[in-house]
Amino acid sequence: MTTKDPRPPAMFIAGDPSLDFLNSIGTPADKVVEWLEDGEDLMAWLQQAELLPPGVAATMRANCFPAELDAVTAQARVLREWFRAFIFKHKGHALGRDALEELEPLNRILERDDAYGAIVARSVERRDGSTNSELEWRTLRRWRTPDSLLLPIARAIANFVTSEDLSRVKSCERSPCTLFFLDRTRGHARRWCSMTLCGNRAKQALHRARIKKHSARRK
Ligand SMILES: [Zn+2]
Repeated sequence: MTTKDPRPPAMFIAGDPSLDFLNSIGTPADKVVEWLEDGEDLMAWLQQAELLPPGVAATMRANCFPAELDAVTAQARVLREWFRAFIFKHKGHALGRDALEELEPLNRILERDDAYGAIVARSVERRDGSTNSELEWRTLRRWRTPDSLLLPIARAIANFVTSEDLSRVKSCERSPCTLFFLDRTRGHARRWCSMTLCGNRAKQALHRARIKKHSARRK
């Protein structure tokens, strides 16, 4: 079992929210850190991942019992480990139609979505020069039940498996780090979850090993 405090901040280094979700449990240093232990953890993670609109967490707290939010967090962990097995099986090659049957559990979650469309004011950050309109169509969601917290995650996974190239999914090369990321570099050269976290440490370890080998030879 992991301890909740002190924990380092959750990791958002994967280049995609669905892989960041896999990384909500990980071994960034030497021991396992679980960032999704209870309902408060889940809502904090969703907010940091920008998957939960402002105000939803407060509404959830007002309308649900903490035990209900903890229960949906347990479901989120099950979804996470289901997705991890899926990624382990399919990373390294593009997905074909035959994966559809395996994605059925995800479709079961997605069909519960209480989403609706609305015209809203376009935010400044979303003006990309393709239109002069100050209004945009946005898909919003009714956050009526605790398990609606699973929907932005299921949606991120669905987006990922339908739009990203799974041959670019990698896990960090430094043991025991298990973090996944999407290698978006042109030459598929990314090897570490992050340079500061694992890249430098792996290089230092290699350097120490070389010195050791060198001095052993001189003896
Ligand atoms: Zn790493």
